[in-house]
Amino acid sequence: MAEELRINQDRLWRRLMTMAEIGATPAGGSCRVALTEEDRQGRDLFIDWCRELGCEIRIDRMGNIFAQRPGRDSQRLPIACGSHLDTQPHGGKFDGVYGVLAGVETFETLNDQNIETAAPLEICVWTNEEGSRFAPPMISSGVFGGTYDLDYGLGREDADGITLGEALDAIGYAGSLPCGDHRLGAFIEAHIEQGPILERQAETIGVVTGVQGSRWYRVTFHGQDAHTGSTPMTGRRDALVSAAHMIKAVKDIAERQAPSAVATVGRIDCLPNSHNTIPGEVALTVDMRHAAIDTLDIMETQLHEAASMASHQEGTDVEVHRIMNTPPVHFDERCVEAVTGAVRELELPHRRMLSGAGHDACHVARVAPTSMIFVPCAGGLSHNEAESAEPRDLAAGANVLLHALLELAQ
Ligand SMILES: [Zn+2]
Repeated sequence: MAEELRINQDRLWRRLMTMAEIGATPAGGSCRVALTEEDRQGRDLFIDWCRELGCEIRIDRMGNIFAQRPGRDSQRLPIACGSHLDTQPHGGKFDGVYGVLAGVETFETLNDQNIETAAPLEICVWTNEEGSRFAPPMISSGVFGGTYDLDYGLGREDADGITLGEALDAIGYAGSLPCGDHRLGAFIEAHIEQGPILERQAETIGVVTGVQGSRWYRVTFHGQDAHTGSTPMTGRRDALVSAAHMIKAVKDIAERQAPSAVATVGRIDCLPNSHNTIPGEVALTVDMRHAAIDTLDIMETQLHEAASMASHQEGTDVEVHRIMNTPPVHFDERCVEAVTGAVRELELPHRRMLSGAGHDACHVARVAPTSMIFVPCAGGLSHNEAESAEPRDLAAGANVLLHALLELAQ
């Protein structure tokens, strides 16, 4: 009987569209920046829906929401799903929201069929995933997973000097449950892919086995400011030309580890940034990602070599600082297996893949067995008001979630 169970595609779609009306933008996206009035309304609506379905609501000190559907055995840890309801300022209708509302739809499907699981089921809503108001992103799942401590989390400030703790109070979502004390038996996060791989391969489901590691660097070239007209080309110490060699080298470093490595120079600060002065100092950021620490080590060695070369060629000096090192995450085998089993049962075209982006699941994976389900989004586009996804793909992902949860909650 349970194998035949399917979620209601139209009901899932209607809920997504109803949530998208909160903070709707003229270009068809949603703006529910963390802990604003719109975020409060989105949270309230989610809680209303969950209460109608008979869930018990708990809120922790970081404002993370846990909506629990009781199981036969209240001693068992809840088998959880969920994601986030906050958006980028120019956000879409699906990033984060999908994983939360797919959870609501699975609960309603189980209610419709009077199916009781052995373990309780739960939907988690993680506060401030996007990080656009309070940096860093994924801060509240980070406190939950023990990556950050509570005081650090509550003390993050927005551009107006308002702390995350004050903003939680202001919208009435400063809960009393100690953050991290609420344990999960498993966590499965369904999410749009935010990349083009599934769409390009005409596949419906990404079985996400982990998240690639990332390392960020700041590379600064020191040359000499000089007049652009009276300084001959020989003997210049042009920091921007060094940076130009470096940008090309960063692309080459990733291509040597093709096809799985990526590396990007995303920002340049050029001084004095003046039309008729040879740039004397240029700093650039480098973001390198790969699933294996060994490969990241090789890429880092090559980055240092390329920086020395780029400075030597132009007579500049160089400093390379690593400013962030996030190790790769490998998801729990049993949770990945539960997703794989569901995909096979539903006979959906799928692939095993890594996530290129960070997700709440990365932090939760430190304290609970975790995996993720990806569904395609049009053109791989996300963090954009035009973000879009097909109702049938979203339904397929929710069906995978339903069956993976059932498997783990047996
Ligand atoms: Zn997201």
